[in-house]
Amino acid sequence: MRVINFNPGPAGLPLPALERARDELLDFQGSGMSVMEHSHRGKEYEAVHDEAISLLTELLGIPATHQVLFLTGGASQQFAQVPMNFLTPDTGADYLMTGVWSEKAFEEAKYYGKPRVAATTVQPDKHYTRVPRQDELKLDAKAAYVHLTSNNTIYGTQWHTFPDVGNVPLVADMSSDFLWKRIDVSRFGLIYAGAQKNLGPSGVTLVVADKAFIARGRKDIPKFFRYTTHAENNSLYNTPPTFAIYLVRNVLAWMKGLGGLEQMERQNREKAALLYGAIDRNSGFYRAPVERESRSVMNVVFHLPSEELNAAFVAEAKKAGMVGLKGHRTAGGIRVSTYNAVTVENVRTLATFMDHFVKTRG
Ligand SMILES: *Cc1c(COP(=O)(O)O)cnc(C)c1O
Repeated sequence: MRVINFNPGPAGLPLPALERARDELLDFQGSGMSVMEHSHRGKEYEAVHDEAISLLTELLGIPATHQVLFLTGGASQQFAQVPMNFLTPDTGADYLMTGVWSEKAFEEAKYYGKPRVAATTVQPDKHYTRVPRQDELKLDAKAAYVHLTSNNTIYGTQWHTFPDVGNVPLVADMSSDFLWKRIDVSRFGLIYAGAQKNLGPSGVTLVVADKAFIARGRKDIPKFFRYTTHAENNSLYNTPPTFAIYLVRNVLAWMKGLGGLEQMERQNREKAALLYGAIDRNSGFYRAPVERESRSVMNVVFHLPSEELNAAFVAEAKKAGMVGLKGHRTAGGIRVSTYNAVTVENVRTLATFMDHFVKTRG
């Protein structure tokens, strides 16, 4: 029996994508072996690889100026790889600080250049409850890039409109909201996302890069860490994580079958409305720390009146078949991660549970 999975990452995967993998696991398309046992240079795997790229290109509307890359090392490697490619000891980059992941990205950039905090919404207690407004950004027109975290997985805040950063390339960590809706890719120099939240298993990192931007990257760093090496080799410079890419392909095919990103956005907004609705109509019991305009559609964070009640909520939800609700250790409370694989029905079940919990324990 499968549970209702609200895990923050690795997160639940859509059942049809898993069933397809199960059905093909031992004998991929009559080849007598699993896709993960195929050569990454063989025609069977290459078809999967190219289909994943073309599905992503179609779903997101990626323009010809940009290229999809499949890398490894997670978003955490991108924290280092971005500055390694684009900074020198004398150049700066602007970082928009909105949470733990922005802080980690900023720290890595210090090894290569002079990152600046161009905006921060950190509070005296070190927590974050919103993203900055445009008028709070102190941007440097000479920065090599501006870095932001589009969705703050831990604090449950999200950029709902991306800031205007002029002609400086915008680099975004979209690990926890990549493909939740259509975005204008042409505005970004580089987008990166670990797959394990919204689009697949861990092991592969998706990058969408402006070809002209990565062409300007440093040439005096090891070949493996240059974006251009992977771009020139269609992400087959070395052995890519073939099974993870195969599963991402299954997830992308599932998304397309459901109606693409327009449908994903409708569902995600409906799920968020159900949860924030349950919080707001029981606001004497559930407290949402995030300011309304910054509320995340992907990670909904709230607190019950006491630690005991937070724990009881998690335990009773588990008995009702719902897991993954405990807040991040640095933020506490409850966190509901409602990535694409979580259905509207799943969320409706939780919202009903929330109302019921107030009646019995409130
Ligand atoms: C989970 C997460 C990361 C870390 O990803 P890894 O793939 O584990 O390196 C980075 N940024 C954001 C926004 C995340 O949600």
